[in-house]
Amino acid sequence: MTEKKRKQIAILGSTGSIGTQALQVIKEHADTFEVYVLTANNQVDLLIAQAREFLPEIVVIANEDKYLYLKEALQDLPIKVYAGEDAISQVVQFEPIDIVLTAMVGYSGLKPTISAIKAGKVIALSNKETLVVGGELIAKLALENKTPIIPVDSEHSAIYQCLIGELDNPIEKIILTASGGPFRTYSNEQLRHVTKHQALKHPNWDMGAKVTIDSASMMNKGFEMIEAKWLFDVEPEQIEVIVHPQSIIHSMVQFQDSSIKAQLGLPDMRLPIQYALAYPERLHASFERLDFMKYSSLTFETPDMEKFRNLAFAYEAIRKGGNMPCILNAANEIVVAAFLQEKIGFLQMSDIIEQTMHEVGFIASPKYEDYVQTDAEARVKATEKL
Ligand code: MG
Repeated sequence: MTEKKRKQIAILGSTGSIGTQALQVIKEHADTFEVYVLTANNQVDLLIAQAREFLPEIVVIANEDKYLYLKEALQDLPIKVYAGEDAISQVVQFEPIDIVLTAMVGYSGLKPTISAIKAGKVIALSNKETLVVGGELIAKLALENKTPIIPVDSEHSAIYQCLIGELDNPIEKIILTASGGPFRTYSNEQLRHVTKHQALKHPNWDMGAKVTIDSASMMNKGFEMIEAKWLFDVEPEQIEVIVHPQSIIHSMVQFQDSSIKAQLGLPDMRLPIQYALAYPERLHASFERLDFMKYSSLTFETPDMEKFRNLAFAYEAIRKGGNMPCILNAANEIVVAAFLQEKIGFLQMSDIIEQTMHEVGFIASPKYEDYVQTDAEARVKATEKL
């Protein structure tokens, strides 16, 4: 039997929740995938352990202060070691790489994603902030470079799977499901007093801290609505968010003949990660199967946009367009960090985001430099309000 060429994977953000789960998938399918690049922001010891196990060609640590420590720890291995944000944007272009999995957190994903698209790499997109901030730019670049963007976000993976085989059949509506997070049934008064510890406990999904807080505040669903607009070329009015507390239906697509397709499964991020890396193949997975007898009741609710104002802000931002979603994202990154440091309360996050959206200068047709400037300005404005 001839050995088939293994797909070479670059994982940006390998020490985070998605990154570590991606490595589990790669380990289970070592005959199909090989790690070419691993990058991390700060968690150098975990990066070292991952590098020793998976033996990539290259590792990059974004925090340059940790370069020497990393280099020394790996000196007995033939692994190239680099540091800094620019190095990440450069290494994603290296010739042998087939797929770049963008699993870092926040705005920092934008630049390396642009770089990877320009190099014609398949993007397994996990960093949703990239599309929130620069969706218009990314969609245009991906089209120009004929680069497929395969979503890793579970909802968008579901929509992507529903669209397989539909060719040019137009989407009438996307039904984006939301778990509703841990505070779905809370009153405003209860929301005012929730703690960081409560917010970090998601009922269904095991995820990183930033996305778990975004999920509790429904900002995550707002971001996913914007992400869906750019990935599937639909208008915000065509995206309906519905709360589905069991997180079994990962999202749905409604077509012009009224037919609705859904993708279902247990909430396990390894599935959308594996789907994106293996696409168009489906590989055998070892994880648990959905047993309908254990989920005899799947329920649906309308989201409360007066209580969870972030979702309304996201619709407002994408309708306005231009740099407004970039402002929304930057303000959100600041308030989530402040909430995690227990500097502000849960409801204050929305107050500060709303004020920041009104204060930063609007740009209708931003270029890349405008996004950089908007991001910086929005961070300053939001920080002033803490
Ligand atoms: Mg999601």
